[in-house]
Amino acid sequence: MSWCSRPSCMPPWGPRWPPFPSSSSASEADRKMASHEIIDHEYDAVVVGAGGAGLRATFGMVQAGLRTACVTKVFPTRSHTVAAQGGIGAALGNMAEDSWQWHMYDTVKGADWLGDQDAIEYMCREAIPAVYELEHAGVPFSRTPEGKIYQRPFGGHMRNFGEAPVQRACAAADRTGHAILHTLYQQSLKYKAQFFVEYFALDLLIEDGECRGVIAWCMEDGSLHRFKAHTTVLATGGYGRAYFSCTSAHTCTGDGNGMVARAGLPLQDMEFVQFHPTGIYGSGCLITEGARGEGGYLTNSKGERFMERYAPTAKDLASRDVVSRAMTVEIREGRGVGSHNDHIHLHLEHLGADVLHARLPGITETAKIFAGVDATREPLPVLPTVHYNMGGIPTNYKGEVLAPTADDPDRVFPGLMAVGECACVSVHGANRLGTNSLLDLVVFGRAAALRAAEVIRPGQPHKPLKSDTDEMARTRLERLRNAKGTRLTAEIRDDLQRAMQRDAAVFRTAESLAEGCAAVDRIATTVDDIRLADRSLVFNTDLAEALELENLMACAKATIHGAAARQESRGAHAREDFPERDDANWMKHSLAWIDAGGKVTLGYRPVHTYTLSPDVPYIEPKARVY
Ligand SMILES: Cc1cc2nc3c(=O)[nH]c(=O)nc-3n(C[C@H](O)[C@H](O)[C@H](O)COP(=O)(O)OP(=O)(O)OC[C@H]3O[C@@H](n4cnc5c(N)ncnc54)[C@H](O)[C@@H]3O)c2cc1C
Repeated sequence: MSWCSRPSCMPPWGPRWPPFPSSSSASEADRKMASHEIIDHEYDAVVVGAGGAGLRATFGMVQAGLRTACVTKVFPTRSHTVAAQGGIGAALGNMAEDSWQWHMYDTVKGADWLGDQDAIEYMCREAIPAVYELEHAGVPFSRTPEGKIYQRPFGGHMRNFGEAPVQRACAAADRTGHAILHTLYQQSLKYKAQFFVEYFALDLLIEDGECRGVIAWCMEDGSLHRFKAHTTVLATGGYGRAYFSCTSAHTCTGDGNGMVARAGLPLQDMEFVQFHPTGIYGSGCLITEGARGEGGYLTNSKGERFMERYAPTAKDLASRDVVSRAMTVEIREGRGVGSHNDHIHLHLEHLGADVLHARLPGITETAKIFAGVDATREPLPVLPTVHYNMGGIPTNYKGEVLAPTADDPDRVFPGLMAVGECACVSVHGANRLGTNSLLDLVVFGRAAALRAAEVIRPGQPHKPLKSDTDEMARTRLERLRNAKGTRLTAEIRDDLQRAMQRDAAVFRTAESLAEGCAAVDRIATTVDDIRLADRSLVFNTDLAEALELENLMACAKATIHGAAARQESRGAHAREDFPERDDANWMKHSLAWIDAGGKVTLGYRPVHTYTLSPDVPYIEPKARVY
């Protein structure tokens, strides 16, 4: 396909002709690589990632007058945010009384007291203006009969400090992420952000203890690009693809986390991986918690609504880790449904076709395609499925990346920010509440833009880069491109995903985790024996997947080693051998550094046990019951 050359018909990155690179451009890319040719760009800020977080940061930065480039490996509106269904949390109080202090309490409790309360206060308070800002920017929210933003109940969101479920999730039917992502992309274009689409960021440019930008590979023509920037914002999303069965897109490979690990900086709280209770059995496709918010419920093989036993108040709307564990126990004790008694039923049929078509149209379609089930007539087969990474790149509530030291656990690493699922602010602590991620994207995307506008003077000059700053990235790219071992990327990835699924699951023990550490470490060494079939630099998906595999490997190592070390149960991390939460010894964030040889070193930093303002008191830890 070609683009009409009239400016209004052109894609934002300009005309592309010829549409597919010719073989001569492939060899041209090789020549440039061999001669170390590189294309330099200078911006005030560069954002890596064009999901909800990256786009909100980009749009805020250009709005503040900063020259900003947004580098993304997929077209912006294909980012995983597009798949978010259920809603974005904010205590608007459109359906019944609500307050941001209740939202904050629920988030602290949902996080099982591992969240930083200053950041949680910031997020829940800013949620209300953030959602109105989205509404004014054009997000087509569903409406109440009076024309207000429609809100539905969601797991763990309660009224009056845990009394009963409240309707807090602002929804655009069951396509909320789609609506938000498209609106943010349009706003970024309106403010003339510069997009570099299908550019794969390889590594950070680090010099003299600060980040000076990022190096990226243009997949279309194979050229290498150095983006110099006063601040680099990582917004590369989660790493769900470290597991065999997950709800996230194939692009969710933890690339930003990998870059940070290679830069010698730590990853935080990576052992906390959220399993969503309702992935479709077999395919893993998500059925939003909004389905239970609208009145859906789970049953076992006896037809019993078992959640009443595990969470008497919130029942099917208890938080995700609680529901996932309850489902796993039911299956283990022989009360699963199906011929293998290995899954659970989700009932929506009693809601009626009208409600399903108005409020959950996408879910009805997903059930039909991926489970072959007519949701208006029969229950859906579901199973807990990997969904979200609470851990990631440590930041403060302004989006600045932290490089903690023993003397200063909150030390800021200059020139680097992280927002969205790749970051760990930490507002989700040990377990994220549904709707709090879309919220995290827009609140902290905006916060990062505000901070960048505060510290950068538009157009301020760049320091020259040393000639070898990009050496590591080039060497890595060439090593993989020319790899002549015996194992295919897909084979190694499959080994990794199966090991993670087996050994870092809903329930964990010292034995399963020790086996997992040994397996992941062994699988990581097989990357040395990788074989690539495609040696070109032009749209080499083989190479892109190998680069992604290295990033997944770093994420998996930090996850499994962090999990083996943490001897307690908290949020999504459920140890059968240590069933209780242990605040005296473990109310602290894990940090994992991974050295060039792949060795993981763990450390810890304190949880922020204070709020941002005197408006709310610190919420003291207590038992987490729903
Ligand atoms: C099916 C599903 C439903 C969900 N529903 C909800 C919901 O209803 N409510 C809620 O709050 N949360 C929901 N979540 C969670 C939430 O959607 C995600 O956490 C969030 O969208 C992540 O956004 P992000 O901007 O951090 O990353 P993403 O949207 O994943 O975007 C990542 C971006 O980084 C870019 N990128 C990655 N690596 C590179 C690289 N090497 N070089 C260049 N670019 C790169 C990609 O191109 C992409 O643009 C859902 C998640 C899933 C999977």
